[in-house]
Amino acid sequence: MRVDTIFNQAKTAGALPVSFEIFPPKGELTLERAREVGNGLAALDPSFISVTYSAGGGGNKGATAQIAELIREETGVPTVAHLTCISLLRDELEAKIAELRDHGVQNVLALRGDAPADDDPANPHPADFRYAKDLIPALVDAGFCVGAAAYPEGHIDCDDLALSVRHLREKQDAGASFLVTQLFFDNEFFYRFRELADGAGITAPIAAGIMPFMSKQQISRMVFMCGASLPSPVIKLLARYEDDPVSLRQAGIEYACRQLEDLRDHGVDGCHIYTMNRADVAAACMSALRA
Ligand code: FAD
Repeated sequence: MRVDTIFNQAKTAGALPVSFEIFPPKGELTLERAREVGNGLAALDPSFISVTYSAGGGGNKGATAQIAELIREETGVPTVAHLTCISLLRDELEAKIAELRDHGVQNVLALRGDAPADDDPANPHPADFRYAKDLIPALVDAGFCVGAAAYPEGHIDCDDLALSVRHLREKQDAGASFLVTQLFFDNEFFYRFRELADGAGITAPIAAGIMPFMSKQQISRMVFMCGASLPSPVIKLLARYEDDPVSLRQAGIEYACRQLEDLRDHGVDGCHIYTMNRADVAAACMSALRA
């Protein structure tokens, strides 16, 4: 099923689409493990499951479409395959489109991706697509339902939030029909961003991305990678449970549940949970939302 249809139907029914992300990027998620994770997540009856794609070299890129197919076929839950264009050539895109079709993929999250850490900035890998907005029309023309990434605090490379929102509008204009946000820990950023997006004429449904934090290392890595702000309640939890990883993990799940409840109560279009391949974490989030 197309993800834009899922959002439209939920809006008509007054329901809240809740989706999950899983990641196979470094080839660590074997098909057997993907089946296990997929089954665990599908049992929670999400609206869709999205499968990430490794922009960097060495990742298990082929697994994305394959895992999206496996989950969809075995569980009946619609899936979204992520695709990045950072070092993609036009003929390689043709091959990618053929691969996605072979695996029956209907929905694609079109992304730029980030340059691999070992890339030489003086001698970048050739690419035919500069931004995600350049990739989107080719995917729409190929018949996919295409989504794009949104940044409630602005993208890490773009200091101006209003400009970041204008870039988002360009992705909608290019054909993106649903949007999924970067993770954030302070819902006020999301509400401010949603107002800016409304003002910029963004009408595509926006799913708010939430990642329950599991450890201090994980949260530092994420914050460093994507530039999300850490509000003081999160910093206090990190300090309080510095030497107690089990309590910190529980506090992270509870914090995410409170964020999700608040988003639901503020009428978001959808909630997208970065599950880190953990069905127990997804289950806790789902039960908070359905309470
Ligand atoms: P773009 O929309 O192309 O934006 C990239 C930068 O260019 C931004 O700073 C933007 O403001 C700027 N920009 C855009 N248009 C213009 C313009 N016309 N002129 C000047 N500047 C412009 N990464 C992966 O490798 N694999 C994944 O599976 C993956 N999944 C993700 C899922 C979600 C929901 C999100 C939020 C991110 C995901 N990422 C993934 C990370 C993503 O690839 C990075 O955040 C990347 O840096 C930007 O990707 P984008 O598609 O948003 O890029």
